[in-house]
Amino acid sequence: MTKTIKTSALIIGGGGAGLSAALNLNSEDIVLIERGGSNSVFSPWNMMIRPKEELREKILQMGGNINDSALVDAFLWDYDKAIEDLQKAGIKLRESNIGLIPDYSLPGTETKKILRNKLKEKKGGRSIKGSVENFLTDKKDEVVGVVVRLFDSGQAVNVFFRYAILASGGLGGLFKFTTGSRDSDGSVLALCREIGLKTRDLEFFMFHPFLVVDKRFPRLLISGDILTAMEYEDESGEQFLSAEVADALRNNKHHHIFPQMTEEFYLQSLKGKVYGRMVCSDDWFERFKKENEFGSIFQKFKKEEVEKIELHPAFHFSIGGITINENGQTSRSNLYAAGEVTGGLHGSNRIGGLAILEALIFGRRAALDINEKLKTTNRDIKTPVNMKKVGRLGLSREVKAMAWEALGPLKTDKKLQELKEFLQSKKSLTSQEKLLKEIAELCLARKESIGAFRKSK
Ligand SMILES: Cc1cc2nc3c(=O)[nH]c(=O)nc-3n(C[C@H](O)[C@H](O)[C@H](O)COP(=O)(O)OP(=O)(O)OC[C@H]3O[C@@H](n4cnc5c(N)ncnc54)[C@H](O)[C@@H]3O)c2cc1C
Repeated sequence: MTKTIKTSALIIGGGGAGLSAALNLNSEDIVLIERGGSNSVFSPWNMMIRPKEELREKILQMGGNINDSALVDAFLWDYDKAIEDLQKAGIKLRESNIGLIPDYSLPGTETKKILRNKLKEKKGGRSIKGSVENFLTDKKDEVVGVVVRLFDSGQAVNVFFRYAILASGGLGGLFKFTTGSRDSDGSVLALCREIGLKTRDLEFFMFHPFLVVDKRFPRLLISGDILTAMEYEDESGEQFLSAEVADALRNNKHHHIFPQMTEEFYLQSLKGKVYGRMVCSDDWFERFKKENEFGSIFQKFKKEEVEKIELHPAFHFSIGGITINENGQTSRSNLYAAGEVTGGLHGSNRIGGLAILEALIFGRRAALDINEKLKTTNRDIKTPVNMKKVGRLGLSREVKAMAWEALGPLKTDKKLQELKEFLQSKKSLTSQEKLLKEIAELCLARKESIGAFRKSK
């Protein structure tokens, strides 16, 4: 018989959003399920700090005013509380170029460790390493549980809940190239679409040109000073960037032409390899190795040994996602969502430095709302009769490569149509394939470039 766990509050995801939710829930029978990876570990947690009115204007302007303004207001309302929560948890913060950043050499890894330890200390906080594979619905088609495959035993367990917080991150893992974790792969969002949960702006993604894919280094996103110390060339050593982008990179002033820059790298990457060639002095390189946040990855190399580094553009952030209200509640009253899996706050594009804050703030808001609801709900969780298993996960490398070509930084109707037709021709689609098909259709329907969505005629 399948083992069963019952909980008042289930959290799927152990990144910034899931941990913030877990630490703010009062219930003494919380279950947090997570896979091994999370974008919150890859991230340096650089948080933008600005006066609220200024930030409000910037968010709406960047988002093309298609943002959910109630979410923007809720975000700004709790902005300071998210920082207070981090400080209360014992996380040391220092000033950064845009606001605040945890003061550790690996901020994401260290911050997550501290928050996880807090959860361990919490009475009734239980965390499970495993992967959610299906939703379980009752005879009224309400989602009342999930099937989890445990990592240690390989066993499938049914987890039934009164409330669930979906904090499963973005869609990067659906693509061949991502700056984040392959575990944030749209699996839970795909299950949500199977049950008709409302979503929005799913066709809006952020991309980044500078993922290191050179086998001598860890696969990671680089930024800042190192970009000014390189020239960018193709396999035959030809520089391929427009003078405007090359200049902006040299002077570290590329943020205003970010989409154009990403497009130029992407188009080159479709033709062949992309390299960054080091053009700095030996002294600069040695100083960089000691002082810069990315210096450590070059530690064992002399400059002449890393003359050329292979780079590739990659998926960076999901702007759209599950539709939520200001308390993180979705279109189903017992399902909440927070963090990168949700949409609405950023509209059509996101300002850098707000994603971690978004995850912390809406994780917290969802938890507080559930705390209130649990005061008046019957805690007895029954195992439903006539239970149905929903969804089937899985995605091949071939489809991930096609997704990258069709849904990458510069979309064309031809590639989108190819992806759609390829998926249509399959006998049966996994939940993630259905999600990709839906996104391809949304991209086909959107004719003009807007915000982070770029289409070539
Ligand atoms: C390289 C990089 C740098 C970044 N830098 C910044 C920055 O400086 N500032 C900023 O604000 N933002 C930054 N971001 C963005 C930000 O880090 C993310 O948006 C944020 O961490 C998302 O948090 P989350 O909790 O929503 O999702 P995640 O941290 O991705 O967590 C998702 C969780 O869900 C789990 N999960 C997924 N599917 C399943 C499943 N089926 N079953 C069980 N568990 C599942 C995963 O294992 C994981 O635990 C960066 C992102 C990257 C990749």
